Amino acid sequence: MKRLRITEIFHSLQGESRSVGWPTVFVRLTGCPLRCHYCDTEYAFQGGTWMELDEILATVAEFGARHVTVTGGEPLAQPACLELLTQLCDVGYEVSLETSGALDISAVDPRVVKVMDLKTPGSGEEARNSTTNLDYLSSQDQVKLVLCDRHDYEWARTALERHRLAERCEVLFSPSYEQLSPTDLAEWILEDRLPVRMQIQLHKYLWGEEPGR
Ligand code: SF4
Repeated sequence: MKRLRITEIFHSLQGESRSVGWPTVFVRLTGCPLRCHYCDTEYAFQGGTWMELDEILATVAEFGARHVTVTGGEPLAQPACLELLTQLCDVGYEVSLETSGALDISAVDPRVVKVMDLKTPGSGEEARNSTTNLDYLSSQDQVKLVLCDRHDYEWARTALERHRLAERCEVLFSPSYEQLSPTDLAEWILEDRLPVRMQIQLHKYLWGEEPGR
């Protein structure tokens, strides 16, 4: 029986991406090979509890939600994550995966909505971007750029053009919480007429940086 190291399984409102606002069960896998400066889930780097896949599915089912998000840490750092995603889809959930963009996404079940980061210079992990991954995104997926400052914005604007991101999938620009003013970012996007969707992290405006929210 396959198992995964899990930091937490909790019920909240989806704070980001296309399914923002939906009651969602989050399955947070332990561990991440990256160290973004703005990381808000450092508590998921270590520890966690080993759980078998059927135990995870049973815990998810207790919340009675239609949406499930598998997140981390970096969930794909644990190979059995792929099997978990498939089993969640088989049960009939609307499943999304939040991933850093540094690890191969090619084997992710096509029914899963992928929300993949493209790391900006401000994250400190720009070198970890695997641009090959961009070829595995489809119109149901999203690529997310968390922006720390104007320099990141300009970098993102260039990446948008260079990789034709908006032709591949929906593009999200998100201000790093308490680092970049959402109002400034909104003005820049409008000024440059960018074909991107701005998002703020709803859960942080509701509950701050509290774990399990
Ligand atoms: S990839 Fe995500 S979990 Fe990993 S360090 Fe960066 S922000 Fe944190």
